[in-house]
Amino acid sequence: MIYPWQMQAWQSVQQAKMGNHLHHALLFSGEEGCGNEAFIQEVAKGLLCLKPLINGAACGECRSCQVFASDAHPDFMSIRLLEDKQSILIDQIRALNYFLGLSRSYSLRRVVVIYPADRMNINAANSLLKSLEEPAPDTHILLLTAHPAVLLPTIRSRCQRARLPLPAHADALEWLQQQVLQHPAEQLLLNTAGRPLAALELDVTDTLVQREQWLTHLTECVQGQGSITAISSYWEKFDKNQLLDWQLGWLLSLLKQGVGGEENSEVRYMQSVLGQQGILHIYDKLLELKKLSTHPLNARLLLESMLVLWRQTG
Ligand SMILES: [Zn+2]
Repeated sequence: MIYPWQMQAWQSVQQAKMGNHLHHALLFSGEEGCGNEAFIQEVAKGLLCLKPLINGAACGECRSCQVFASDAHPDFMSIRLLEDKQSILIDQIRALNYFLGLSRSYSLRRVVVIYPADRMNINAANSLLKSLEEPAPDTHILLLTAHPAVLLPTIRSRCQRARLPLPAHADALEWLQQQVLQHPAEQLLLNTAGRPLAALELDVTDTLVQREQWLTHLTECVQGQGSITAISSYWEKFDKNQLLDWQLGWLLSLLKQGVGGEENSEVRYMQSVLGQQGILHIYDKLLELKKLSTHPLNARLLLESMLVLWRQTG
């Protein structure tokens, strides 16, 4: 995936590739949350592709692209933080040096991606230096970091530097507005310092937290706990259609899967208390409310109708 704000960086990589003077070690730097990991993956895929498109992008269909997609390309190596590790370790770089000693299989080049490059510990970084000093033929090592100053100066000086810029606000906003969002795009960008992918992630996580909260409140209603007035005022400003869709989604999964199909313990609890008849009853009533949800009906009244439904059936 090449995002609009990465187009210039993409073109300069492609020009160097066409002119056959792409450096063997490229150090990309740019902030997290801007899609830069996706960018270097695309660069790698394009370098390995057997029939790249005219703009240098991978074709997506050749043998190289297919094995790349299944994460099993013999000429590609990706070095990342291992699970539970704070640093990239020397053993990972040793494996890389071994890889560089092998001969190529599918592609005309070999590609290595190291991210986050600033997390190589001192031993790993020193071990990488040798590969940067004596480059293997037809091999490109792509390093990505959000903190280039943290890298050893000797590593930095052996790489060609490329900056992946933060998008202009208007570009970030335009892209974000094309995504399916639960929150206003402006607000999301403001809270993530203009980083569009971080903004998208914030939208999703925040939504998940709200979805969980809504389920907790509904469970309280079924249990006869919590005041309907208090819960209504909590959700009054929230998108009512969204609240209805979440409820309908939970109920539908219960109706379809029967007992034991749902992972969430609160949903399972609802199932045991309400039974199939109760679930079906709430489902039908919520569908009626959904027809009203676009009318300029009193928001508070609509919310209370939903909550009363759960309380009375529970
Ligand atoms: Zn291809």
